Amino acid sequence: MQAHNGMYIDGQWRPAAGAETIEVVDPATEEIIGTVPAGTAEDVDAAVAAARAALPGWAAAPPAERAARLGALHDALAARREEIAATVTAELGAPLSFSQAVHADLPVTVAGTYAKLAAEHPFEERLGNSRVLHEPVGVVGAITPWNYPLHQIVAKVAPALAAGCTVVLKPAEDTPLVARLFAEAVAEAGVPAGVFNLVTGRGPVAGQALAEHGGVDMVSFTGSTAVGRRIGAIAGGAVRRVALELGGKSANVILPGADLVKAVKIGVGNVMANAGQTCSAWTRMLVHADHYDEAVEIAAAAAAKYVPGDPTDPATRLGPVVNAGQRERVTGYIRTGIEEGATLVAGGADAPEGVERGYYVRPTVFAGVTPDMTIAREEIFGPVLSILRYQDADDAARIANDSEYGLSGAVWAADDETATAFARRLQTGQVDINGGRFNPLAPFGGYKRSGVGRELGPHGLTEYLQTKSLQF
Ligand code: NAP
Ligand code: MG
Repeated sequence: MQAHNGMYIDGQWRPAAGAETIEVVDPATEEIIGTVPAGTAEDVDAAVAAARAALPGWAAAPPAERAARLGALHDALAARREEIAATVTAELGAPLSFSQAVHADLPVTVAGTYAKLAAEHPFEERLGNSRVLHEPVGVVGAITPWNYPLHQIVAKVAPALAAGCTVVLKPAEDTPLVARLFAEAVAEAGVPAGVFNLVTGRGPVAGQALAEHGGVDMVSFTGSTAVGRRIGAIAGGAVRRVALELGGKSANVILPGADLVKAVKIGVGNVMANAGQTCSAWTRMLVHADHYDEAVEIAAAAAAKYVPGDPTDPATRLGPVVNAGQRERVTGYIRTGIEEGATLVAGGADAPEGVERGYYVRPTVFAGVTPDMTIAREEIFGPVLSILRYQDADDAARIANDSEYGLSGAVWAADDETATAFARRLQTGQVDINGGRFNPLAPFGGYKRSGVGRELGPHGLTEYLQTKSLQF
């Protein structure tokens, strides 16, 4: 067990203002693996002061210099790949192979894209008799969740730094250890003191203090819709910019003519990855009535291959969920699904067989799900798939869009043209066409209640810029 003390503020690890700590638990063993300080408003004050003091220098640094620091950050993260993967597996419970390929490698890729974009972005443009300057928004308060803990940090900090902003980060209390590794990488990359600051702590204390702080120019939040709504209200009251990445209940629409086996198997894998704790997961599978029974059979068989197990075992594909509360929440939804009349075709609310400890949930598939059921409407954030039946394309579009969320989705058809035509009808921020590959430069963010703003790539960079026009 490692007892960490200190917050990374103004380029140094300094003692926290208070004595309270947060215990970090390994969800596979239920053992305490470390402690970090629980930050207070006083720590947030110190961090914001450091970020404000560092802002003029960093904002004025040539883009090439900011790009060089981001390149060094990319290298420092890449050098820590195995340590990052092992840390995320320990504090989140993600299978080690997934931690390596996604939790460690994706943020390295994203840091690399911003090293390039910082150097190439047009921070000035001409419009008639005007010169338009794209200037940094200022001090950014970043509040991140535990489900993709390093990715969500890098998806905010890298574009903010590329834009010339300075940052105070409050990471999730369940996954603070990888945030500390990130701060070490920032220090190693030679980023000037105060440009990036870390305050670990609890949401209602440190997070709230950061969201309310008068020295913060923009808050970028990823997490639940409930907390996001509060953060948006605080920002609205203060007339301060805000970016919100919230939940999802995305539709995976399988049209007649698609490769059914491929579409269903990839769809199941998408939901089971990271134990279902993915805001963009395709948790509603929509299948035409003619292919429905076959799809259900394929999905149930595919889900059964995700045997819950020790996440440190390289063969494991399904680890535990993050904590006991999350397990209660997810199994509660499974019970609700049964009560409301959905048909359980794989998994269930009971603990997986042979499991004596750890917050495991069985890979679960529901058939006979109708759009009004709770499990078709609410974000479950666990390894639970709902399969819905549609009669024709209009019906499929209506069901897919019948959600307060609109973060992601997929469309499968006989050809890309048919799938694209259908994707145009979807009220959602991202759609994968016939299994299209993840693109780290593509804008990521929500329609409707899934959020405000976009992350990643050039669109993610402009979120951290404001414009000034000079007329000649
Ligand atoms: P959450 O409470 O919204 O946590 C996200 C971040 O906000 C964490 O850093 C959290 O700190 C902080 N926070 C909490 N209350 C705050 C407040 N009053 N002011 C400022 N910051 C605050 O999410 P959660 O409790 O971890 O998860 C609950 C549910 O949210 C999940 O079951 C899932 O449905 C959804 N969720 C969605 C995403 C996503 O990517 N869209 C990610 C995570 C969760 P603490 O860690 O200390 O709470
Ligand atoms: Mg919380």
